[in-house]
Amino acid sequence: RSKSQSGAAIHFYAHDMSAGTRDWIELEADLRNGLDEDRFEVHYQPQYELATGKLAAFEALLRFRRHDGLLLSPGDFIAVAEESGLIEAIGDWVLQEVTLQIADWSRQGLAPVPVAVNVSARQCLGRSLARRVEQALRQSHIAPSLLRLELTESTAMGDVDHVAALLADIRALGVHLSVDDFGTGYSSLSYLKRFPIDELKVDRSFVRDLVSDPDDAAIVRATVALAHGLGMRVVAEGVETVEQLNLLASQQCDLVQGYLFSKPLPAETVVAEGLLMPAEVPTRNLRLIRS
Ligand code: C2E
Ligand code: MG
Ligand code: MG
Ligand code: MG
Repeated sequence: RSKSQSGAAIHFYAHDMSAGTRDWIELEADLRNGLDEDRFEVHYQPQYELATGKLAAFEALLRFRRHDGLLLSPGDFIAVAEESGLIEAIGDWVLQEVTLQIADWSRQGLAPVPVAVNVSARQCLGRSLARRVEQALRQSHIAPSLLRLELTESTAMGDVDHVAALLADIRALGVHLSVDDFGTGYSSLSYLKRFPIDELKVDRSFVRDLVSDPDDAAIVRATVALAHGLGMRVVAEGVETVEQLNLLASQQCDLVQGYLFSKPLPAETVVAEGLLMPAEVPTRNLRLIRS
């Protein structure tokens, strides 16, 4: 076989292609088809207010039903979605799905609870995110304060002026903003002054050994002090034990989220498990019972 024959050269290349590359290409095609075939799902993980124990919000976490039926978590597909640019269309789908779900819960007579949507750095490159958010709000007729966006520090590492303007536009719509995985990125803290941020989320890696590692405890304490000093709330993610919860309470952390309370749940399960309360609490009847 001569390499001067182009057919042979292509064959040579295809044969040499690593299994990883083939998987990547296959997954990209599957994600593309999955959008048309409605194979994405959003699961909802509750966040609770530490002081009262009340349900405060949900985080929307994306799942993908692969062609063979296996349910994938973002760790298995989000890098492919980002690299291929598909994250734009997928992110749009998530925004629509979540805002329509909030509207649907409200139609069912359930008291409104805000939902936070994760946004990749790539989705913040152009100016379109503010328009897409506005469109999702308009289409669902929900109160903008019921939608939150979670951004990571990597978003702040690009063009800071651009991101500041974009986030100001989104915040002006009434949508609240959180910094996810706080303390794990490489950005400077100065973006906290430039961006209209409402909330910091302490990364799971600092919560995990919080009880045994004084360094982690110091980082959490400092994050709470920083957030409160800047007028922001603090959420601890990945809370799995009562010991972690007690320590977070003693450090004045505002909200908690993790397997100790609940895994991320499909929307139907959120309702079936009774996590959402009726909008009209029958206080009159409660008073009658007491007297
Ligand atoms: P994240 O936003 O930091 O989400 C928290 C992750 O921790 C979720 O993983 C959640 O299921 C997991 N988790 C929550 N509580 C616990 C716990 O107590 N213990 C442990 N071990 N894990 C816990 P998940 O759902 O696999 O999502 C991974 C990441 O994928 C998210 O991290 C987020 O960065 C990204 N992601 C999720 N949904 C979307 C989306 O719609 N769009 C984009 N762009 N990214 C998303
Ligand atoms: Mg998040
Ligand atoms: Mg996080
Ligand atoms: Mg994370």
